[in-house]
Parts: sequence; structure tokens; C-alpha cells
Amino acid sequence: MLRLDLAKLEREGYAQVGAQVPADDPLWHGAEVKFEGPVDVHLRATHAGTGEIVVRGAVQGMLAQECRRCLTEVVTAARATFVMPMLYLASEEGLRLDEVSDDDEERLVFGRPEVDFAPLLAQLFAIELPLTALCREDCKGLSLDGVNLNEHPELQEADRARRDAASPFEALKDIDLTSQ
Ligand SMILES: [Zn+2]
Repeated sequence: MLRLDLAKLEREGYAQVGAQVPADDPLWHGAEVKFEGPVDVHLRATHAGTGEIVVRGAVQGMLAQECRRCLTEVVTAARATFVMPMLYLASEEGLRLDEVSDDDEERLVFGRPEVDFAPLLAQLFAIELPLTALCREDCKGLSLDGVNLNEHPELQEADRARRDAASPFEALKDIDLTSQ
């Protein structure tokens, strides 16, 4: 489903593949993120100016995440891209991420012209996707008792007072630092 035929790259100057991957597809397992609905994936390999093969990937879908303040589920549209150099090293192994030279740059190493990206896809995109979300810019978060303050704004003032009282800096306020 997500195979790039790099023999085609040599013949036609590029190789590409596009697919809609279901959110529950096993290839997302191990990703830090959870999608909702189908995810559009697009991969395109070309030659860079240096003659090196470069693959560009794009993924677009709806991300289901917890609001980092109030923990309710938020579904947001997300898009991520990556650009990776590829290197051919003859072998029977599948695609792998490797640092093959001493410049510390990671490359996608492949051993056969038909390259399956599915096993590495989650890893390649995970670093580019947002790991946290906010349900809204001014989310009020949870009270000390775990009440969602967006739903109970009348509790906000009392909660703030309790937080101030519990703050370790509060105790320092009365210390006279000039007397030392
Ligand atoms: Zn929230």
C-alpha cells in the first residue's frame, strides 16, 4: 500500500505513492498519537541536485488528543511533513533508518528498488506531529479537585485563592531578607 518503486525514479525522474490509511491500521501502532478517521499519506522520491535520492512525505488527518489543561478529548486537523535522504546499500533487508556515514545525518537505507514505508511511517511522522493540544486558547483547566473550570467558571476564583495559599512562595513572603 505504501510502496515506492525506485526503479521508476530512475526511469521517470520521480516515484510517488499516495494512500488513505485507516486510523486503526497497525502501522500507526507505536506512534505517540491517535488519529480519528482516515489519514492521507503521500510520499514522493526524487533526485536532489547532488544526485542523492530524497523522499518527501506528508501526512494529513484528524488527531485525537487530550487537552493538556482540562484533559477533555480534542480533535484537531493536523499535518506533518518530513524530508529524508535515501541511500541504496545492496541487501535483502527492508527499509531502515541508519546513520551510515560519519556526518551523523540519518538516512533511509534500502536494499531493493521496491521500498515499503509502512513499517517506518509512524516513526517518521511522529516527531513532526504536535504531542499536546488545547481544547481552546483560554482553557481554564482543572481545579485542585479535578473539576473542569470551563464548565464551572464560578469555581475559578476560589480555586485560584487555594492555589495561592498552597504555593511554597507564599511562606517566603513574610521573611525579611534585608536583616541577614
Ligand atoms: Zn481544555
